[in-house]
Amino acid sequence: MSAVIEASGLQKSYAGQRVVDGLNLSIRKGECFGLLGPNGAGKTTTLRMLLGLTEPDAGDARLLGLPVPQAAREARIRVGVVPQMDNLDPDFSVAENLLVYGRYFGLRDSEVEARIPALLEFASLTNKRDAKVPTLSGGMKRRLTLARALVNDPDVIFLDEPTTGLDPQARHLIWQRLRELTSQGKTLLLTTHFMDEAERLCHRLAVMDNGRLISQGTPRELIDRNIEPQVVEVFGERAAAWAAAHAAQYSQRFEVSGETVFCYVQEAQPLVAHLQAQADLRYLHRPANLEDVFLKLTGREMRE
Ligand code: ADP
Repeated sequence: MSAVIEASGLQKSYAGQRVVDGLNLSIRKGECFGLLGPNGAGKTTTLRMLLGLTEPDAGDARLLGLPVPQAAREARIRVGVVPQMDNLDPDFSVAENLLVYGRYFGLRDSEVEARIPALLEFASLTNKRDAKVPTLSGGMKRRLTLARALVNDPDVIFLDEPTTGLDPQARHLIWQRLRELTSQGKTLLLTTHFMDEAERLCHRLAVMDNGRLISQGTPRELIDRNIEPQVVEVFGERAAAWAAAHAAQYSQRFEVSGETVFCYVQEAQPLVAHLQAQADLRYLHRPANLEDVFLKLTGREMRE
């Protein structure tokens, strides 16, 4: 099946600095594809080029089979966008925001009116139809932004950090809705800083850093390919001293971060047995996850 979103050799520089550097991507219909990376990695610039909003310096992009930016207007009729920051119109009610947005797509008010009940139900905002935007909670605004992105019944939805700033309940509701969209055959491309979100939601992921995709695959593949299967976190005041004396004996690779030592191992049993005998150390034994992969690939130091 042909790809819904495609990029080959995409490049973009700002002020002589390459922020996207030879990016190749192919996303199929019905996939939820996650783009992960630290701040400044080039994720938003990539989304903008794939949407035809930013012109690449080199390379090709296709959206729904159409070349972008050349045919971006035509392609975007079938695309929904959830931007990083909610940009709802504060002077309008919930329903009016949907109506006004529909006009950008050339939809008649009557067409949008007919869709509003289903959109509000999808966003769990049925009883907020006439509420003004400033009276909504953060989670409600996010859901309205998602409903607004669906006003033109798009085939593809771009979501830039869709759940940033939401509480766990609100995030779970958004996740449920995004799953419903992919099960309807819609294609999702999202960026996120939440590794649990990426692991649960995305069929495939790419980790991006310094403008390049450094690893791509299913969440399971990324974990299996990049990291030891077991992690033992050792923490407490004495953890760093313990690591200096003993960690190398029990783990192939370990990292000290503050008062926690992360030990990455193929087989945790010898280390766990040793730790059980250390009364003044606490530990947590768990399977490796996507956050471990992310930190290994992009480092633990802060960006920006
Ligand atoms: P991310 O979304 O991964 O945080 P961005 O794509 O926003 O990364 O940014 C990548 C780099 O490009 C950053 O260093 C950012 O400052 C720079 N950048 C992005 N957009 C512009 C722009 N319009 N003009 C100049 N620099 C930009």
